Amino acid sequence: MTQQEPSGPMLSQGVMSTGEGMRIFPDVEACIDCGGCVVACKRTWDREVQNQRIDITTMAEGTAGPQGENASKTDRLVAGENPGETSLPMQCYHCENAPCVSVCPTNALQKEDDGFVTVTEDLCVGCQYCLSACPFGAPQFPDSNDGTAQIFGTGGIMDKCTGCRPRQEAGKGPACAEECATNAILVGSAGEIADELEKRGSGSFFNDEAMEIIFGADDAQHFQDNE
Ligand code: SF4
Ligand code: SF4
Repeated sequence: MTQQEPSGPMLSQGVMSTGEGMRIFPDVEACIDCGGCVVACKRTWDREVQNQRIDITTMAEGTAGPQGENASKTDRLVAGENPGETSLPMQCYHCENAPCVSVCPTNALQKEDDGFVTVTEDLCVGCQYCLSACPFGAPQFPDSNDGTAQIFGTGGIMDKCTGCRPRQEAGKGPACAEECATNAILVGSAGEIADELEKRGSGSFFNDEAMEIIFGADDAQHFQDNE
């Protein structure tokens, strides 16, 4: 798989490149909690109602910050000041140092050479270890009775964001990113995402430990360089 050619399909403003080595990462300051990404994902992949591969986490809902609602500055969050309503699209970020892959006892989860973190359904025994290990709430268990870890083998099959790999192989961006009206879901290399956030004046939201999980220590440096 190669990087997106300029002559390929039109990509949204938040999709800088697709394919090998790409990352998915949120611009928290752009997200307005409209749910467009959630709907686009469900529509594209025909997910059941209870199976949401993207979850929008909203903090301080209805609270206006200095820039109004849904216009939070991450530097205010980091400083412990009132940022106003802040929404964060949570999905699988296809982490470089994926804790879910490390804990999976059956190798159902793999970090592939092209960067995608994949699930082999036939190997998943439903232990839900990955659910405990993922800091971002990405693993879903739509067929589990109560959504929590149960006796070994009864938690259902794990499901999560695939990064829209088939769309990316066709040169398109992930459906969530293409649908987002505010370009709050960024897709590209770590350097491209860091540059885009810097251009927008947006922070990266996550702490250093989380950034090293998602991007690896070397690529996380792109974001520190921008601070
Ligand atoms: S730890 Fe979570 S976000 Fe990271 S690759 Fe695994 S499921 Fe995806
Ligand atoms: S639930 Fe499935 S994918 Fe998750 S750790 Fe257990 S075997 Fe691996």
